[in-house]
Amino acid sequence: MVTDDSAPSAGSQSALRRANERNVLQTLRTLGPTSQAELARRVGLSRSAINGIVRSLQDSGAVDVRPGASGRETEVVLVGARGTLIAVDLGHQRLHGSVISFDTETRFDEVVDLGREHDAQADVSTVAALVDRLLERSGADRDSVIRVCVGLHAPYESLSRTISPSGILPGWEGLDVEAVLGERLGMPVHADNDANFAAIAEWTWGAGRGSDDLLYVKSSNGIGSGLIIGGRIFRGANGMAGELGHVVVDDRGALCNCGNRGCLSAVASGRALLLELAAAGAPRDSLQDVIADARAGDLACRRLLSEAGRYIGIALSHAVKLIAPSRIVLGGELSAAGPLVLDSVRQELDENTLQTISGMPRLELGLRRGDMCILGCAASVLAEEETGLSELPAWLLAPVGHRMKEYA
Ligand SMILES: [Zn+2]
Repeated sequence: MVTDDSAPSAGSQSALRRANERNVLQTLRTLGPTSQAELARRVGLSRSAINGIVRSLQDSGAVDVRPGASGRETEVVLVGARGTLIAVDLGHQRLHGSVISFDTETRFDEVVDLGREHDAQADVSTVAALVDRLLERSGADRDSVIRVCVGLHAPYESLSRTISPSGILPGWEGLDVEAVLGERLGMPVHADNDANFAAIAEWTWGAGRGSDDLLYVKSSNGIGSGLIIGGRIFRGANGMAGELGHVVVDDRGALCNCGNRGCLSAVASGRALLLELAAAGAPRDSLQDVIADARAGDLACRRLLSEAGRYIGIALSHAVKLIAPSRIVLGGELSAAGPLVLDSVRQELDENTLQTISGMPRLELGLRRGDMCILGCAASVLAEEETGLSELPAWLLAPVGHRMKEYA
């Protein structure tokens, strides 16, 4: 029998169809609710081809079609999330765990105070005990867990799966985080820097939605960042790309825990502002207090926030020249300061970034929530499973057992 190589076989046609479906799902994850006309434009297929793909995705329960906001055109939304995931946000003094079940539409959370003295061995035991408690309370079956996502408040080398020796999470240096936790929990573990997860959450559901190239800055006690380039987290050669907190912005500035002087984190983080106020004999307990006092007119607090914004602007202006992101999202507790910090970020960017015809990247404030790492874990697992949710449902925003911290 003679076969015609130019005609696609049934196998290659179904592979092509699957690739087109993946492309449509990925586009919906990036854009949120989208009309079929926009999907056709973005994916580069005809309206009738998109129509067929949407129908088949509707049959499999991955998407829904509903009246659009304008009332004129329908829009396609992702609805196909399934399974259970465990999200863990491991900080210097605080461990936040969450069991999220997309099957029962429930989320159970607990926060544990770790204190100042803890090491890797203690952390592993604390995480394991927390996961056990949350699974029991949620009633979720261990076997239904797709993955455990762990967000680490420390520079993380995703290639070697180790925390860089910065002393931020003591005792973890040199340990394979995924192997150590995976063995103890008996479940697959995926670890990443917490700012990378928060960037994914902003990109999927927040102020970064619809942008292909996003620079996310998380500024709370420390400063971290996550880079999304071409719709993917960018990690660089060793997995540590996007450490904006360790860009030197003042070579005479304070010493940083990484060993350099004047890193962004050492001069503009919440920790740095509290140290400066304490040294000036005007101590405050938290970054939130600094922001509240600045709003009430305290000049020292206003100056510190404005200077922090200027330093962030300096670091960002270098990043903008190198990467040219379409959007910058400022998240973390510092974002609650609004114009008190944003005005000086913007001014610094205006003065120190090359003027272009297409203009500056859009600068936005992120979602004002204390659980962005947890939400990012959820978004990342859904993307890996090639499914998703176009909108954050109410149950996912209001966990049982823990009052979610919202930035004012
Ligand atoms: Zn540093």
